[in-house]
Amino acid sequence: MIKDRLVGELLTRELARQRRGVELIASENFASLDVIRTMGSWLNNKYAEGYPGKRYYGGCEVIDEIEGLAIQSLCKLFGAGYANVQPHAGAQANMAVQLSLLKPGDAILGLNLAHGGHLTHGSPVNFSGMYFRAHSYGVHPDTGYVNMEQVREQALEHRPKLIICGASAYSRDWDYAAFRTIADECGAVLMADIAHPAGLIAAGLLSDPLKQCHVVTSTTHKTLRGPRGGIIIMGEDIPHPSGQTDKKGNPVMMGQRLNSAVFPGTQGGPLEHVIAAKAVAFREAQTEDYRKYAAQVIRNAAALAQALVDRGFNIVSGGTDNHLMLVDLRSKSITGKDAENLLIRADITTNKNMIPNDPEKPMITSGIRLGTAALTTRGLVEGDFVRIAEWIHALILHRSEDAVIASIKSEINRYMEGFPLYPGIEGL
Ligand SMILES: *Cc1c(COP(=O)(O)O)cnc(C)c1O
Repeated sequence: MIKDRLVGELLTRELARQRRGVELIASENFASLDVIRTMGSWLNNKYAEGYPGKRYYGGCEVIDEIEGLAIQSLCKLFGAGYANVQPHAGAQANMAVQLSLLKPGDAILGLNLAHGGHLTHGSPVNFSGMYFRAHSYGVHPDTGYVNMEQVREQALEHRPKLIICGASAYSRDWDYAAFRTIADECGAVLMADIAHPAGLIAAGLLSDPLKQCHVVTSTTHKTLRGPRGGIIIMGEDIPHPSGQTDKKGNPVMMGQRLNSAVFPGTQGGPLEHVIAAKAVAFREAQTEDYRKYAAQVIRNAAALAQALVDRGFNIVSGGTDNHLMLVDLRSKSITGKDAENLLIRADITTNKNMIPNDPEKPMITSGIRLGTAALTTRGLVEGDFVRIAEWIHALILHRSEDAVIASIKSEINRYMEGFPLYPGIEGL
């Protein structure tokens, strides 16, 4: 145990919680021990402002190799021609892209937060909505799929400089080519934020945004199963849309502007311990094991969605192409908030989530978001997810019966013992 007993005991308790529970939060995963150990290393001690070969500190020889390996592995994983591995998180990656392209007051267009979008895509409580004129598109009320007609209307009306596709709570694949046509029509840069499905895209199981989008951002800790962090990639570097040239008359490149927007634009020293762990994760994601894992994530999500539909639940858009789904709970007469609080009593972890055009307030909601990335890492397969749907169904049906809830909780705790997490580890 680490010398700080108080913190050490909290770490042990959190490990026990992760082990005994049914983890359905769509943005979470269980990184490998290699990733965890790399993050917890002495690389933490090094300052390395700048980029490989161009640092503001001495002693960066090894760090340069590490960051270079992370960049090279990331480019290989996605077939990218440019990568920046320094963003501290997904939000910082998005902030850097916006800083590199926009001036205060410029228009942007992203998916409505209430329809599954992300705060950094133009929400008024986020920098993206405070400094830019943010407009949004939504999902079609009849289908739950992104309303491409509305995307086009909004784009032509507001002439955004940046169009963002990607979401936090959208269970369908994206038509990046259709977005690109619209972006070209209004002269916008097209960005995809693949924070959620990145790992499934890397495994070749969903459409590839790099072919159509100018810039792609992501987190590294969701389906990609790495350390908490962000990345920016491009299929190939392009001239910056401002058309500016440098002193020699060469075009200023987008990659150069993105690098400056990350550091010094929005961040200080890079987290090289995390960047090393990113390199580990990018290399893991190129293995056959990982590709099998990603395919199982999708099969498990389909099985869970179907099992819920079979039990009278509604899934927004009717199903899922990726690792997550949005469950509309109105047919079960329970709010998202009450469902989240009920399920956690049986150690099923989920999050309440707005459904498109939700009649409830954001702190109440009518839905929950479920994802299969974390439990698939634990080794669960389709049949296990049918079992999970049964538990969710039974809990909601017997929501006021404490004995039923307690008995499902102990059944779940026993069940999860069959799927060991970090076997042999007892604490730090
Ligand atoms: C999770 C997420 C982010 C932000 O990631 P953080 O690492 O939490 O900052 C950005 N965009 C989308 C679409 C996300 O789902």
